[in-house]
Amino acid sequence: MIEIQSITKDMLGVVAVKDIQPETLIRVFNPQFSNERNKYTIQIGTKHMMDDFGQYLNHSCNPNSEIRGGGSTPCLYAIKYIKVGAEVTYDYNTTEEILSEPFYCNCHNKLIKGRYI
Ligand SMILES: [Zn+2]
Repeated sequence: MIEIQSITKDMLGVVAVKDIQPETLIRVFNPQFSNERNKYTIQIGTKHMMDDFGQYLNHSCNPNSEIRGGGSTPCLYAIKYIKVGAEVTYDYNTTEEILSEPFYCNCHNKLIKGRYI
C-alpha cells in the first residue's frame, strides 16, 4: 500500500502505491521505543518510536493520515482519500511535545522551530 520513495532530490517520503480510502489502516507500526527523541522518532505517550516507515513520514499542516493508538501498537490511518502516487503525511504537532530540531514546512514555506498551534 505504501513505499518509501524520493520526494525531492534530498528527501525521502512515504508514498501511496495504490489508492487509499479514508479510515483505512495503512500501517501497524513495528516500533522500537527509546527514551530519546531525534528527527526520525515519533512520540507515543512518553516514549519515542522508531519505525521503518514512520521515520520517513513527512509533516504536513494539512495531512492525509494520522497516528492512532498508544501503547505498544500505534497505527497509521488515512484520514482522507489518498490517491496513488501521493505522499502520505501527518501533522507532527499531533505527536511531538517538543521538536528535536527545526524543520522547514513545505506547505506554508516556514521554518518551524517548536509547537505551532
Ligand atoms: Zn505547514
